[in-house]
Amino acid sequence: MSHEKERSAPERDREDTPAEDGFAIMPGWAVETLHDDFRQALRVGKLIYDSKTRHQRLRVFENPTFGRVLTLDDVIQTTEGDEFIYHEMMSHVPILAHGAATDVLIIGGGDGGMAREVLRHRTVERVTMVEIDAAVVEFSRQYLPQLSQGAFDDPRLDLVIDDGARFVAGTDRRFDVIIVDSTDPIGPGEALFTDSFYADAKRCLKEGGIIVTQNGVPFLQGAELTQTMRAFKRLFTDRCCYLATVPSYAGGPMAFGWGTDGVARSVPLDVLRTRFAAAGLETRYYTPEVHKAAFALPAYVRKLMP
Ligand code: SAM
Repeated sequence: MSHEKERSAPERDREDTPAEDGFAIMPGWAVETLHDDFRQALRVGKLIYDSKTRHQRLRVFENPTFGRVLTLDDVIQTTEGDEFIYHEMMSHVPILAHGAATDVLIIGGGDGGMAREVLRHRTVERVTMVEIDAAVVEFSRQYLPQLSQGAFDDPRLDLVIDDGARFVAGTDRRFDVIIVDSTDPIGPGEALFTDSFYADAKRCLKEGGIIVTQNGVPFLQGAELTQTMRAFKRLFTDRCCYLATVPSYAGGPMAFGWGTDGVARSVPLDVLRTRFAAAGLETRYYTPEVHKAAFALPAYVRKLMP
């Protein structure tokens, strides 16, 4: 039975309404236009870069609190101030839970922050990073070098410029961990939230392999998390999400999708502590205790799990 959706406010029909330019809405501020009914704005101290690539509008600006901020199509991708939370939780959780990851695939991640964190694991022998937009990499190397911190020059890194969905559909490579560090499901990122992409990614996992996905802020993007979890329920024996609060991803804690046929999620805390110590990582957010606690979900997020 179809329910006529409550139209409490005039709904912006995405097709007809051209995307607003987040820099034009409130001069001197960058207004994020990701959500229909919720916006955040960051003061633009200095606009450092602004250009349209083949795929998306790329901007970087200085903000007094967050430092340099990267936006793609007016959506905040990463900021110098709080990127450590996101990159540490999306890399160390699957790699330390796995315990013997040597081959890691990063899909997206053009700013280089995820590659930086993954490459800190000496046990990781090869990182393949599949980024659709070469301009994001070139630009991040130049304007956001503190994100990649030399990761792009690490001999263990294979940088592939391609659509991540096409890559997993066509590769015969297999990985211990797949990290989908994508934009939100708009523009080129849309392909990374489809059932076919998840099925192809699963085929690219070695036995006991783990996939983690950037799955937005459940309070505002709950349907995206449910959609990913529905696909993961069909593909994996263990699927869930874990949470971390990244201040610039406004709207509450953000979710990282988790899928595996292995038992990595139940690794005991003392084993995680031993692995973390052996890895010799200096972190600013990740701890083995935070790792375990991140999987404890509040009721409103559990309700989004099919
Ligand atoms: N931390 C950010 C977040 O949570 O939104 C993501 C950062 S990273 C900049 C996102 C990257 O995904 C961008 O460099 C973008 O070009 C890339 N991307 C988007 N769609 C893609 C696709 N289909 N294949 C590969 N990379 C893609």
